[in-house]
Amino acid sequence: MAASETGRSGALSQGARAQRVTTRCNELATFTEEPGQIIRPYGTPALAAARAKVAHWMREAGMDIRVDAIGNLRGRAKGSDPTAPALLLGSHLDSVRDAGRYDGPLGILVAIEVVDRARQSQRARPFPVEVIAFADEEGLRFQTTYLGSCALAGSFDPAFLDLIDADGMTLREAVGTFGGDADALPDAALGPGEARAYVEVHIEQGPYLESVDAPVGVVTAIAGQSRILTAFSGEAGHAGTVAMHLRRDPLPAAAEIVLAAEELARQTSGLLATVGMIEATPGASNVIAGRANFSLDVRHPEDPVRTSAVSALEWRVHEVASARSLGVEWRIARNHPAVPCDPSLTTRLAEAVAAAGLPVEQLPSGAGHDAVVMSEVVPVAMLFVRCAGGISHHPAEFVMTSDVAAAVDVLDRFVDMLADEKLG
Ligand SMILES: [Zn+2]
Repeated sequence: MAASETGRSGALSQGARAQRVTTRCNELATFTEEPGQIIRPYGTPALAAARAKVAHWMREAGMDIRVDAIGNLRGRAKGSDPTAPALLLGSHLDSVRDAGRYDGPLGILVAIEVVDRARQSQRARPFPVEVIAFADEEGLRFQTTYLGSCALAGSFDPAFLDLIDADGMTLREAVGTFGGDADALPDAALGPGEARAYVEVHIEQGPYLESVDAPVGVVTAIAGQSRILTAFSGEAGHAGTVAMHLRRDPLPAAAEIVLAAEELARQTSGLLATVGMIEATPGASNVIAGRANFSLDVRHPEDPVRTSAVSALEWRVHEVASARSLGVEWRIARNHPAVPCDPSLTTRLAEAVAAAGLPVEQLPSGAGHDAVVMSEVVPVAMLFVRCAGGISHHPAEFVMTSDVAAAVDVLDRFVDMLADEKLG
């Protein structure tokens, strides 16, 4: 590290801290179950090794370390009042298959820099600050998400322990091999008054911040989501012998819904509607389809907008079916309400962005995060960091070091603001 990267007191400059975060993201990328790509599912040796490395960095930053019963790593800086409710910062350390290097680790490493910066400048915060590296957010191994934050929020369903991975190992066994204790999971839950808030830094996973040329953005809400499986059934037939006016073809009906969903979303501010799966059976080029199955994914940060969009689409599906004499199926497979970020924390975060001399951009999150689960027990806020092309869950995922510096600066100012409030 060059001498110019350190301040008069020998403390690391903001640029040097951001560079260290980037270097550490690269280092964590080497902890993988399959060399050549990043795969770090829950309970694996790769995740355990990454966790040990992060624990080492937390200790260097002056934090006390513990690992809870599910395997979350919790690093704690006591503050001047160790009994005050803690400010929780963090993100997840597990990954999807063939992941990028920033989704998850960035939020943990930025938080460690903020704690370390306070230690180096001898600013004791009036409350404990905890950095949490969640053990499972992506749900790659057991096909369920948020195992880590569910344990902390006290909403871990014991039935999850019977889930089985691709090799036939139960989650109960995996918790054990990861150094955890399935029977002690209730003890991992936060106690009353133990925490005051959870704040997460995460890559945006979308192109908005890039489009407005902003390094960071304040998240207003995590969008609610409806996932619907629907189908039209008609009558299969020969493509060369059944006259057009005699057909009951479900595929053009499905096409009408694809276009209707797109049109509705384009006309409704903030609404996202996607038909990502469509399947025609029997599925031959010279056969009129007998059935068309398709999915609908509808998201919006405000639940009433989402539910009324779903109702409108359901009504349209029945209208199209009736006009074309088709059978119809409509099954809601998933309904997740939106999670609003805490207004007061979000205002503070926006003030911290402005104080850092950055444009204040606010945006909803279309993807889910640990903050969804943590919102069950504490107020939550999130700061998004611009990522190249909005790409995530992919090796091409990229965050500029200058944007990392912005995130460290904003989070540091934000924690200082909360500290001043508490002292004032
Ligand atoms: Zn993530």
